[in-house]
Amino acid sequence: MHEPANCPHCGDSFEPRADQVGGLVNCPRCGRVVQVPGLRDPLWVLLRVGVVAAAIAVGWFVGKDQPPLGIAAGAAVLGGAWLLSRAF
Ligand SMILES: [Zn+2]
Repeated sequence: MHEPANCPHCGDSFEPRADQVGGLVNCPRCGRVVQVPGLRDPLWVLLRVGVVAAAIAVGWFVGKDQPPLGIAAGAAVLGGAWLLSRAF
């Protein structure tokens, strides 16, 4: 039901548990850390869509008078959100 995860270290393919989708898991064969494809849950998707919408809104608002500054502000929001998402 989930996408299988492929270990880049030993080439093993395994079925991740539901709570492991979109996260990091240790390979059952070689024990090294593997990134499991897929998204964590609908809330996570909603959060990402919200962040992109916020970046566009900020970029549009700031860029009304100065378009280059608007693009920079939008990129800053996206970059900040990306950094935040790495902390989870
Ligand atoms: Zn492995």
